[in-house]
Amino acid sequence: MLIDILTIFPNLLASPLEEGMIRKARQDGSVTIHPVNIRDFATDKHQMTDDRPFGGGEGMVMKAEPLALAVESARRADSLVVLLSPQGTMFDQAAARDLARRDHLILVCGRYEGVDERFRESFIDCEYSIGDYILSGGELAAMVICDAVIRLLPGVLGCVDSSLNETFSRPLLKHPQYTRPALWRGVATPQALMSGDHAKIADYRFIQAIRRTAERRPELLQRLEFSQREKKILREHGLAALLSDERDALCAKEKICWPLP
Ligand code: SAM
Repeated sequence: MLIDILTIFPNLLASPLEEGMIRKARQDGSVTIHPVNIRDFATDKHQMTDDRPFGGGEGMVMKAEPLALAVESARRADSLVVLLSPQGTMFDQAAARDLARRDHLILVCGRYEGVDERFRESFIDCEYSIGDYILSGGELAAMVICDAVIRLLPGVLGCVDSSLNETFSRPLLKHPQYTRPALWRGVATPQALMSGDHAKIADYRFIQAIRRTAERRPELLQRLEFSQREKKILREHGLAALLSDERDALCAKEKICWPLP
């Protein structure tokens, strides 16, 4: 995969691209990332990439032409041009999976009051927001998207299951995790995890994942589909209601009292 990141602050991207999983993915050739400095495409002698808004008002607006030239310098037939914007579709794991299937992403980072609307209308294929808050620029949002997408590329995570069994790989939060020592400051690791019985551990973790999701994100459970084995476990734990017509009403309740261990 190739990712071009269009920004007026390319140095902001340096550290996140040079550490951890992204560094490794770049080194093994799973992804190539090009920071593109929009200023290099400014058309006036002062290299201006922004100007005052027509109609007045606060702040500056990113000019259309440098942005258009920067996109045109990077764009190929298979490119998806993405604008980072607080007004965009909310970025989630499904969006990350969708972007991970693309060969070429162009991520456009806004600054100031955002980009000239005519550029947005002519060049942008889709817009993503990373949350209902305002950042000073799209660079950190672009890094969030890069991280979420690159870890889904084949071979990037050592263990394939790592990205299949995570929170949001299906509408379910992941179970709590424990590591050594077994007894930490008087708090023991749950006995089921120490049993060495893989089936028992898997069942325990599934129920804990259901419990955590019910407590924190009950609306996710409305979309969750269960395997035959999971249905059996739910029944054994008195959670058959999750398999019935009552599920929607249960999940919509603000506080759910689950008969969980
Ligand atoms: N004036 C704009 C508005 O009210 O909608 C906000 C502009 S913001 C200060 C500058 C840039 O930061 C945006 O163009 C966008 O690229 C980026 N940005 C800010 N918040 C974001 C968010 N939640 N998700 C993605 N990008 C964001």
